[in-house]
Amino acid sequence: MKAAVLEAYEAPLAIRGFDSYEADPDGVVARIDACGVCRSDWHGWVGSWEWFDFKPPLGHVLGHEPSGTVIDVGENVETVVEGDHIAIPFNFACGHCGQCRNGYENLCANQLGLGFQEGAPGAFAEEVPVPNADTNAVRLPEGVDPVEVAGMGCRFMTAYRGMAHKADVSRGEYVVVFGLGGIGLSAVHVADALGGNVIGVDLMDEKLSMAEELGAIETVDASAVTDPAAAVRSITDGGAHVSLDALGIEETCRSAIRSLRTRGRHVQIGLTSKEQYGFNSLPTDAIVMNEIQIHGSSGLPPAKYEEMFRMIEHDQIDPGAVVTDRIGLEDVSDELEAMTNYGTVGIPVVSEFA
Ligand SMILES: [Zn+2]
Ligand SMILES: [Zn+2]
Repeated sequence: MKAAVLEAYEAPLAIRGFDSYEADPDGVVARIDACGVCRSDWHGWVGSWEWFDFKPPLGHVLGHEPSGTVIDVGENVETVVEGDHIAIPFNFACGHCGQCRNGYENLCANQLGLGFQEGAPGAFAEEVPVPNADTNAVRLPEGVDPVEVAGMGCRFMTAYRGMAHKADVSRGEYVVVFGLGGIGLSAVHVADALGGNVIGVDLMDEKLSMAEELGAIETVDASAVTDPAAAVRSITDGGAHVSLDALGIEETCRSAIRSLRTRGRHVQIGLTSKEQYGFNSLPTDAIVMNEIQIHGSSGLPPAKYEEMFRMIEHDQIDPGAVVTDRIGLEDVSDELEAMTNYGTVGIPVVSEFA
């Protein structure tokens, strides 16, 4: 089977042949049907994220947004069978630690990052092994397009948890999303589906237009105003109820919080880059004086995927709406390179592996 390997940071991935995987007793092997390319891949590709142990080692296979078909099943697996179509979360859970037993598999103490950490080779490949499949292999509903749901296990579920569970967006609330990459655009779409009035903020016209297509009532071009937060406060009659920083750089994080009204809720999904090394400075006094709530949001417990599947079934959300391109395995490197200058719009999905 073929896979795209990280041989040097910031260099094109090498396409190499490997032996097929065999399922371990608790796991399955999936043939990859599609795999999204995400800014998290870029962070790994440039060699970031060692400060929380997500820097991929050289020789690792990247890719963490797959949907696949089960082709080999370990003897202890009970919930999926050969031929099942599955979504695969980017953060494999052990299924037995305290967080897992309390329903927080997304925060598993023994978490293994697909396509980032040793022991979890990624999905820019024809096949991927999925450990603890009874926890980590999420069976997809009938009839969904594998390309459209690639990313279900990363950007889409993360945006969903941020908006539905963390911010708990309710009808008519103003929601501002800073950074309209894959997560940001997914969040615009989800927040709109939940009844929010969404404002998208970015520097690129194409991303702003895509946010409008996905349901944003207004957008702010951050390159055209001196203070994007002030622009949002003026659109929202005093500030948004909910803000999301989907990017993780200091400007977006601070502006998102400064866009909020009194008692607003901020959701942080974007992670930092090498320059910040895990830290952004925050508008501390405004957080105190306005009783701003700050929520971190990471992944989604697999049992909660059902909520998204029901919304898809009843046409309330469409994960395929943020997919812009179908590409081949050999095109991934170009996409990663383009992300250095934020030159990609929407989500490219690898669907050709041969
Ligand atoms: Zn991702
Ligand atoms: Zn666990």
